[in-house]
Amino acid sequence: MFNAPMKICIVGTGYVGLVTGTCFAEIGHDVICVDNAPEKVKMLNAGQMPIYEPGLEELVKKNAAAGRLKFTTSTKDGVEKSDVVFIAVPTPPQPDGSVDLSYMEKVSREIADVLTRYKIIVDKSTVPVRTGEKVCETIRRYCKSKVEFDVVSNPEFLREGFAVQDFLKPDRIVFGVQSQRPVHALKEIYAPLNAPVVVTDVNSAELIKHASNSFLALKISYINAVSVICEAAGANVEEVANGMGMDKRIGREFLNASLGFGGSCFPKDLSAFIKIAEQLGYDFALLREVQKINAQQMERFVRKIADTLWVIKDKTIGVLGLSFKQNTDDIRMSPAIALCLRLRKEGARLKVYDPKAMDKARTVLKEATFMDDMNKVPEGCDALVIATEWPEFKKLDLQRARKSMTHPILFDGRNLFEPAEMEALGFIYKSIGR
Ligand code: NAD
Repeated sequence: MFNAPMKICIVGTGYVGLVTGTCFAEIGHDVICVDNAPEKVKMLNAGQMPIYEPGLEELVKKNAAAGRLKFTTSTKDGVEKSDVVFIAVPTPPQPDGSVDLSYMEKVSREIADVLTRYKIIVDKSTVPVRTGEKVCETIRRYCKSKVEFDVVSNPEFLREGFAVQDFLKPDRIVFGVQSQRPVHALKEIYAPLNAPVVVTDVNSAELIKHASNSFLALKISYINAVSVICEAAGANVEEVANGMGMDKRIGREFLNASLGFGGSCFPKDLSAFIKIAEQLGYDFALLREVQKINAQQMERFVRKIADTLWVIKDKTIGVLGLSFKQNTDDIRMSPAIALCLRLRKEGARLKVYDPKAMDKARTVLKEATFMDDMNKVPEGCDALVIATEWPEFKKLDLQRARKSMTHPILFDGRNLFEPAEMEALGFIYKSIGR
């Protein structure tokens, strides 16, 4: 059986695939990352990064220079040279909320095409329960010879913005297996991380991922619903969350009231889990309510802006933050972008800034003015909005902002500032749940 250092191929070199491949190289394995986007592979081979993720660039350069990390567009090449193949391709949502598994199916066929000896095929993409069975069936169907292989589910729990640290120090590693045969090799791969390992069946492993993400989304919607009560009752949601979070059974994480969650995972995984449940004969009404609360939270925030400005049309509104959360350039399903599009639709003129997501945002916010300095955004604005919780926004020059704005009105969608301090500085300050 395979022993460390392992020969690993990663198919799909995006946020998950690139982090996974790089971290595996960092802990000593020989890794080939495959991507079918030639421009991405070209950039990586030239030492440039297609995405922003703290700490990743240094590790990519270090491991590529050491010869442990390679990039190619050829799945054939990557699979042939490896013993273990990880799949990290997109699993995007379809209009009805179900998951588009065509990328998974295509990669399964591509792997089958070049499979000539035993390999472990590991699914890292987030997929509906029973996808492993389909991957297995597809590989068997398209494989030209009768080759043995194992299909494993190894869901990924990293958070964008903290992906490297999350990958190298995971809370747990989940292996869903059909037999015990691949378990030793899988444990060898991850052994340097010294993390707790859960070995279970494939279906349960697949469900662990959807159940976890849906639960985290539920926690956010819960505190957002509490924030509505806090506003109505004159309480402070931050105080409530702190008091709740000190209970070890609850924990403080994911109890930050905001204008809602977004990103490439929570909204999609939530819809997928609702759809999976429906297909299995269960109406997951609880999760439908989580979605509803999230949508209402954005509506409530827009209404707060409209109620204060009376008319949004022709107002100049500064927006700080475009990525879906701090520390990333990812704008997929970003609440900040959704808010900008909404304000634009109402006729606002937008001045925007983000520390890392400007290039990606330019493709969707064509009519906004992009500023290169957060402190220049408030100049001449009728209102300023904080849409992403970048820590550096806390260092905004508030005196300068107040003086340079047409009207010092600040809508804080991430509760970055203290209401009393903002009011003392002369701002009309509106945040969430306080
Ligand atoms: P991504 O879009 O950033 O990356 C996917 C990559 O796969 C792209 O670079 C694409 O070009 C490539 N690709 C598509 N088809 C291919 C093929 N046939 N051959 C080779 N490459 C191909 O997506 P991502 O954010 O890395 O997500 C991948 C999976 O991981 C999804 O299922 C997602 O739900 C899951 N996931 C994502 C995160 C996250 O934070 N982004 C966390 C955990 C799990």
